[in-house]
Amino acid sequence: MPVQHEQILQGKLAIEFKTVSKMVEIYCFAHHGTEKAVCASCAELLNYAQKRLDRCPYGQEKPTCNRCPIHCYKREPKEQMRVVMRYSGPRMLFSHPILAIRHLLHEKQRIPVRIKSNASNRHQRKKSD
Ligand SMILES: [Zn+2]
Repeated sequence: MPVQHEQILQGKLAIEFKTVSKMVEIYCFAHHGTEKAVCASCAELLNYAQKRLDRCPYGQEKPTCNRCPIHCYKREPKEQMRVVMRYSGPRMLFSHPILAIRHLLHEKQRIPVRIKSNASNRHQRKKSD
């Protein structure tokens, strides 16, 4: 009997994981010659992502990972994930538009204030318009 990924994540975290899974799939199918299931190294990356989400200190308040002030990924999987996202991000709109749009909307949400934000840093960012 095949062991299904146990649903350890719920709500937003589950959706985020689903989104990440699709992105890894798109990337793996295109780069690693896989068709229906991701290769071992991508499966490992997903496993890692799932664990990180499960332990996310923000829980359901979590911002999307690329905006998260807590960088919980280790260097290697982080780099791997960055490459995946860059490739799959734009492609998600075509293959999984609903997930992609939810993800984009989620990205627009404010990051919950947990760490005191340093407002004085703000004016250093110049807008070129
Ligand atoms: Zn792969």
